Amino acid sequence: MADTTLMSIPGQVDPVPVARDITPRTDGRIDLIGLPKDRIRELFAEAGLDAKQAKLRAKQVFHWLYHRGVTDFAAMTDIAKTMRPWLAERFYIGRPDVVEAQHSTDGTRKWLLRTSDGHEFEMVFIPDADRGTLCVSSQVGCTLNCRFCHTGTMKLVRNLTPGEIVGQVLLARDSLGEWPKGSMAGLDEVEDSAEYTSDGRLLTNIVMMGMGEPLYNFDNVKGALKLVMDGDGLALSKRRITLSTSGVVPAMARCGEEIGVNLAVSLHAVTKEIRDEIVPLNKKYGIEELLQACADYPGASNARRITFEYVMLKDKNDSDEHAHELVRLLKQYDLPAKVNLIPFNPWPGAAYECSTPERVKRFSEIVFEHGISAPVRTPRGRDIDAACGQLKTAAEKKSRAQRDREAAAAEATEAAAG
Ligand code: SAH
Ligand code: SF4
Repeated sequence: MADTTLMSIPGQVDPVPVARDITPRTDGRIDLIGLPKDRIRELFAEAGLDAKQAKLRAKQVFHWLYHRGVTDFAAMTDIAKTMRPWLAERFYIGRPDVVEAQHSTDGTRKWLLRTSDGHEFEMVFIPDADRGTLCVSSQVGCTLNCRFCHTGTMKLVRNLTPGEIVGQVLLARDSLGEWPKGSMAGLDEVEDSAEYTSDGRLLTNIVMMGMGEPLYNFDNVKGALKLVMDGDGLALSKRRITLSTSGVVPAMARCGEEIGVNLAVSLHAVTKEIRDEIVPLNKKYGIEELLQACADYPGASNARRITFEYVMLKDKNDSDEHAHELVRLLKQYDLPAKVNLIPFNPWPGAAYECSTPERVKRFSEIVFEHGISAPVRTPRGRDIDAACGQLKTAAEKKSRAQRDREAAAAEATEAAAG
């Protein structure tokens, strides 16, 4: 049974997740998915291969796992026939379990997935004319409780492991039938590498915008994205990957330096009062600090702008003044910015409504008139609750009364401690 590393801290304290690279299995085999190539080599050496063999086999197996999407050692045709059962006895190639797969009328697909220890989470695939975006989860639930977000009301939270994160990408490739086909005699086969380009692919982009705050699960997200970007495997360019954060300021510079993907920031409000209310993390890392971290984000430039997400909440954050203030702030910090206006997606019990289409349009125009692109994001997959902020697994529901009781208990503990 996996160590679930539950995080019970609701909100204002940065959780310290315990990173683990191997999830033990009851059958004693080790799941290789999520491990870096060097770790696979070490494990092969520990299992008895000499250094040279371990290195070669790790390279071959890695290629099969991430370039070809194979889940069975028996299919690894360039590995000696006698070696394949030896590997299968000791190692395993896992995928998250699929509990349910749904298809929206607009083509969006949502999968309800389950970890080996029974936690449910979701991933969403959004096809467009010129690209296909996979929206990947980083945690089961989220500790941050943004008031407009359904995921924020979830009870149980644990970090997803690197294997469970990269596993979503592998599973999407499986479902979309997107692994390179054909025989493969050796690693250098030219015909094979020519097949592997992003042209005509369904899955071209990845956004870390599913359940959870990715920067509160930094090491595991980094480990998974390194595998996604590895040229010997999935080989997706960092330019096609975007990580969205609600504003975990201390982790932002590391994200740029160590992962190097595009950054999206859930800004959503331009005054302290309103942002404190709708994104409670703002009480810890305020707007100025956040925008300064954006200005300092490694790799940001006019060619690679930072996306500012702004959810349109009726009579809350959607006035002309708010739009002007947004422009002023982005200019003050000299940010290479684009703004993404997200119509609020409703969910049962939400305290907000979506702004009217006219209001959203006017807001967009004001920002645009000042030279900043501000498209309105078309909600996708609303009919299957796959749109931004609607992700929440049924198994994790808890009552309002229960949440209030827990909040009161936490406050009492804090008062006693302080
Ligand atoms: N936790 C990260 C990434 C996941 S959320 C973050 O907050 O940035 C992806 C985006 O959807 C965020 O910008 C989030 O604020 C937004 N969102 C959440 N709930 C929403 C809702 N009900 N309607 C529209 N957008 C929402
Ligand atoms: Fe968590 Fe993001 Fe939802 Fe906020 S918007 S509760 S950070 S998933």
